[in-house]
Amino acid sequence: MSGGFRRGREIQQDVAATADVVICGSGAGGSMAARELARSGLSVMVLEEGGDHTARDFTQREDEMIPALFQEMGGRRTEDLSVMILSGKGLGGSTVHNTNLCKRTAPEILTQWREDHGLRGISEQSMSPFFQRVEQDLGVVPIDPIRLNGNNQILKAGAEHLRYRGGMLSHNRDERCIGSGFCELGCAYDGKLNARRVLLPQAVEAGAIVYSDARVVRVLHDDGEARGVEGVLTDANGRSRAGIRIHTRTVCLAGSAIGSASIALRSGIHDPHSQIGKSLRIHPGAIISGVFDRVVESFRGIPQSYECTEFLDLSKGSNKRVWIIPSFAHPIGSSALTPGFGPALMRQMRNYPRTAVLAGMIHDETEGRVYLDGERTRIDYVPNAQDREQLALGARESARIFLAAGAREVMIPAVPPMYVRRESDLSQITAARFAPNDAKLTAVHPMGTLRMGADPHSSVVDERGRHHHLSGLYVVDGSLFPTSIGGPPQMSIYAFAMKVSGHVVQDMRARS
Ligand SMILES: Cc1cc2nc3c(=O)[nH]c(=O)nc-3n(C[C@H](O)[C@H](O)[C@H](O)COP(=O)(O)OP(=O)(O)OC[C@H]3O[C@@H](n4cnc5c(N)ncnc54)[C@H](O)[C@@H]3O)c2cc1C
Ligand code: SF4
Repeated sequence: MSGGFRRGREIQQDVAATADVVICGSGAGGSMAARELARSGLSVMVLEEGGDHTARDFTQREDEMIPALFQEMGGRRTEDLSVMILSGKGLGGSTVHNTNLCKRTAPEILTQWREDHGLRGISEQSMSPFFQRVEQDLGVVPIDPIRLNGNNQILKAGAEHLRYRGGMLSHNRDERCIGSGFCELGCAYDGKLNARRVLLPQAVEAGAIVYSDARVVRVLHDDGEARGVEGVLTDANGRSRAGIRIHTRTVCLAGSAIGSASIALRSGIHDPHSQIGKSLRIHPGAIISGVFDRVVESFRGIPQSYECTEFLDLSKGSNKRVWIIPSFAHPIGSSALTPGFGPALMRQMRNYPRTAVLAGMIHDETEGRVYLDGERTRIDYVPNAQDREQLALGARESARIFLAAGAREVMIPAVPPMYVRRESDLSQITAARFAPNDAKLTAVHPMGTLRMGADPHSSVVDERGRHHHLSGLYVVDGSLFPTSIGGPPQMSIYAFAMKVSGHVVQDMRARS
């Protein structure tokens, strides 16, 4: 099959086709699976609901880029509106607007998956070759300390002053990165070695056909076997223009933990133990801003390059589950989190050049749920008491780091906002302030919902990513994870997608 990119918005008529494999979604997991499966000689089709955005389209304007690149135009929230969840839409998925941090899955997490979820073949050793290949493919290197921007320097200075553990991170950018600071709005300089730039062109070169503006509605199946997918081709605003139906015997779900669960739920797949959509984890994070007397210009340079891991212990039962990283936003995002209206908001925003922001993201134990309400996908997620303690710990320690770095004032957006000017103010930051719709929470790492496990009573797919009840259905994205991973997920998703792709090829050869 000769490969290519096809834009659904330019197609007027219904499409019907046959392939060996169809992949639903083209983010970290979907792009890796597309490349691996196409390179193994299978005919592969990818259907991606968002558009095809590349460097020339990235205008560096929040009002244009957020609606174009994010699910629900950037307005996705949990059912009670208390957590904003950002995830991507478009070829390359969330890798197009992410901040390029790269870390392998921690050995402690892999051990828990093996011991608690029966994933016997998963260990640091067995996953190492996959991580090595991903790091090579995506050019993962440590960030040069010379590239620490103002926001990251403040985190480093505060953490070092307090003797907190921390260090430089690794990333997948190349020499085209000029440190513009616009990562979350797409890179106009094409400096990111993300799924759209690296993997999808390789998949197409190996013969894959990749549709943008193509939303999968459901998986087709009968007699316990996958038969393909059906969906719609849309215009640039997501409105349906034509139908698309792909006949295959193998379907890979790669729509992210929220999108893949929605497709599975809509498809009426046999789910005797009601596992589909359960166990959602999101790494929710509190936002903490610090105002300094000097100009910081956090909006310039590589947004995230230094981490504080003093309160991050990923071993089972740990009560230190906080990952502290810089988290600066552009003006619209910042003003949305700044308290006050009119002149009061204007006064606060005048501090924008002197402001630094941290996020205390938690390795969450709360299990949320994705479910359908008619046609709408809903997300039920309310942090439990232990996770609220962790959110408070993250906010308190981030505020302490700011004070140690010389902040004049620290603010935690909440109702009412919490202000910290001296150490004694830190005691007001308690778990009670992390009840729903008090302190503002954001999340950018949806995981779980179609999790791996040996026991079909408590999981959706097996260790090979294969659905327990529907032959020919696989999961290749962040939905696979049995628990939160407590760090940036893209490397883990790329590596597990690569691993599952190998099993898909073996299974298909065995079937034919
Ligand atoms: C602002 C931000 C910053 C981040 N920074 C980092 C970072 O620095 N490091 C890191 O490791 N991770 C980061 N992440 C997270 C990381 O990018 C994601 O965890 C990862 O990309 C998820 O991979 P995935 O394959 O599960 O889903 P995604 O990459 O989200 O891809 C899913 C794709 O499926 C498509 N889709 C959904 N439903 C359908 C459907 N019905 N039909 C067709 N297509 C569908 C979506 O449009 C999307 O393109 C960040 C995320 C955000 C939002
Ligand atoms: S910081 Fe680098 S990778 Fe990010 S948008 Fe700017 S040039 Fe691109």
